[in-house]
Amino acid sequence: MDTETLTQPLVAGYDGVVCDLDGVVYRGADAVPGAPKALQDIVARGIRVVYATNNASRVPTEVATQIAGLGAPATASDVLSSAQAGAARLATDLPPGAAVLALGGEGVVEALRDAGLVPVAAARDHARSGPDEVAAVLQGFGKELRVRDFETAARLLSSGLPWVATNDDATLPLPWGQSPGNGAYIELLVAVLGRRPHVVGKPHPPLYGLALERLGTVAARTLAVGDRIGTDIVGAEATGLDSAWVLTGVDRPSDVVASESSPTYVIASLAELLMPYAAPVADAGGWRCGAARVALDGEDLVIERGSAGPIEVVRAGLAALLTSRDEGVPSAHLRRAAATLDRLLDDSPTSTR
Ligand SMILES: [Mg+2]
Repeated sequence: MDTETLTQPLVAGYDGVVCDLDGVVYRGADAVPGAPKALQDIVARGIRVVYATNNASRVPTEVATQIAGLGAPATASDVLSSAQAGAARLATDLPPGAAVLALGGEGVVEALRDAGLVPVAAARDHARSGPDEVAAVLQGFGKELRVRDFETAARLLSSGLPWVATNDDATLPLPWGQSPGNGAYIELLVAVLGRRPHVVGKPHPPLYGLALERLGTVAARTLAVGDRIGTDIVGAEATGLDSAWVLTGVDRPSDVVASESSPTYVIASLAELLMPYAAPVADAGGWRCGAARVALDGEDLVIERGSAGPIEVVRAGLAALLTSRDEGVPSAHLRRAAATLDRLLDDSPTSTR
C-alpha cells in the first residue's frame, strides 16, 4: 500500500477508470448512494470511464440503459462484458464469419455477432452441428441453457475445438443466497473433457486488456475500481493496473487479509476518488492514517481512533495486517484482528453498506 500522501484528488493521477458495476455503481435495482454523481464528476474532469462486468448474460445496451437511468454517464460503448472479451479473443483466432457455438444467453450471442462471427445456438442446431461446421465454443452464463446444450458442447469440444469461457465465477448471488454461476457450469464440462477453457473475464487479464483498448489509456495511467478482492483487485494486479477497493459491496477487510492481494487504495465510496487520498504511514511499530493510529499486538489490533472516521481506521488497520501477512504471518493468526475492522465498518452509522 502506498505511503505517499496525495494533495490532488485521487483520480487526478489517472487518465481512465475501469469501473465494476454490482456493489460499486448499483446494488440490485438501486444506485449505490453518491455513485452516479461521483461518476459524472470524474467524466467532467476529462477522465474516461468504462464499466467492466463479468455478467455475460446481459447485452451492453441494456446495462448502459440501467446505468444511465440511475444518473451515471453511460452509453453502450462504455460497457464491456466478459462475453465481448470472449468474442474478441475468438475473432483474433478465427476467420471472419466462422461459426461459434453460443453456449450462453443473449449476451453471448450478440457479442459473437458484433465481433463478426456467426453464433450457433446449441438447442436449435444440435442435430446438425458437427466439428466441421462449428469452429469454437464460447461458454457464458445463460438461464435458458438445457442439459442437451451441454451435451452438444461436450460432443464438439471432445474433438479438440477451441473453448473460451466468459468468466469462472463459481457462484451467482441471488436474493436468497448463492446459485451456480458460469464457473460451476464450466466444471461440469471439465469433469467430462479433462481439459479447461481459456477464461477471459475478471480476474483474468483479457477483459482489462479490452478495457484499456476502449479507454485508449496505458495501464500505468488507468485505475481499476471494484468491490470484490478475488475478481476486481486480483485482476487489476494481474494486468498491472492500480486498484481502488470500494467498501460499498460485499467484501470486508477480512477478505483482503485472507487473500494474497493488496489494493492500492481503500475507499468508502466512489466519491472518495474525487478527494485527496490520505494514505497510511508507518509510525513507531504501527500505522497512522489521519487521526487514527493502529498497531497489531499479537492477534489483536490496538486502535487509537481519536476523531478519525472508520475509513481511516480501516486503512491504518489494513496496512498493519497486510504488512504482517506479507512478512509471512499466517492469515489465520490475523483473522481476529481483521474481524475487528469488519465490525467497525458494519457498526458504523456512516457505513455506506
Ligand atoms: Mg462487484
